[in-house]
Amino acid sequence: MAQLIDGKAIAAQVRGEVARAVKELAPTGLVPGLTVVRVGDDPASAVYVRGKRKDSEEVGFRSVEHHLPATATQPEILALVAKLNADPLVHGILVQLPLPKGVDERAVLEAIDPRKDADGFHPYNVGALSIGIPGPRPCTPAGVMRLLREAGCDPKGKRALVVGRSNIVGKPMAMMLLEAHATVTVAHSRTADLPAEVGRADVLVAAIGKAELVKGAWVKPGAVVIDVGMNRLAGGKLVGDVEFAAAAERASAITPVPGGVGPMTRAMLLVNTLELARASVRR
Ligand code: NDP
Repeated sequence: MAQLIDGKAIAAQVRGEVARAVKELAPTGLVPGLTVVRVGDDPASAVYVRGKRKDSEEVGFRSVEHHLPATATQPEILALVAKLNADPLVHGILVQLPLPKGVDERAVLEAIDPRKDADGFHPYNVGALSIGIPGPRPCTPAGVMRLLREAGCDPKGKRALVVGRSNIVGKPMAMMLLEAHATVTVAHSRTADLPAEVGRADVLVAAIGKAELVKGAWVKPGAVVIDVGMNRLAGGKLVGDVEFAAAAERASAITPVPGGVGPMTRAMLLVNTLELARASVRR
């Protein structure tokens, strides 16, 4: 039976580390500030933002939310971002997606100063990741790297398979595993033989968004399995992209859903903001 990688406990540990760092910075007068911009009344966004604000307050950040009405125009949103870019108390800016119809999300994300890009989604930071220069990294794959570390899995020299190639998970995940010296394959909806690819992977990261698409029987014995997927079944149960029970029979370590990658995504946002605050005094 596989070792269970407890994302909830590891995320709590990360929050503890950030809270200690905030205390250590206090005598210098630097209080990391995270500002979240929420536009409209998407209920899921409201829940996510509440969680992010709670975490920020708990670790001692200056936490601010700007809530604009669903009728806010693109120039209004851009004006707010410009104001936050210029505010020295703001170290991290996060614009909660999705934005209302008619607003160009890309234009808004690109307007964020890359040095304040808490999510690591700005094209500058995407480029920074791909050429290995420091900067904020997308939170979900950064959280996966921390989970691998805590599970004692060094990707160096291993065959890693990332299933999914989205800009927020799959692609940056592949880059981070490459940076960690894994031999990386990226699979997606046009991959010819997914079971065969899975069967070769020492490290498997599933970020697909399809309930239990990856069958346990495909998993290479001894593999480390990280399940990013969050899929709500008709009855309300939350499941991952991997058939958990069957995969756990073969894997050496596996993340549960919920309680695996999800809590880490939130925790890494705090790490990014702390690092952005530290970097702000070095320039
Ligand atoms: P996207 O929908 O943006 O990307 C899904 C990817 O899966 C695409 O690259 C797609 O391929 C690929 N895919 C779809 N069907 C198949 C298939 N049959 N075989 C192989 N690959 C396939 O999703 P995200 O990356 O945003 O999210 C993925 C999952 O992770 C979701 O369940 C989401 O809820 C979850 N998630 C969880 C987070 C967390 O904190 N735990 C954070 C972010 C996401 P193609 O490119 O060819 O279409």
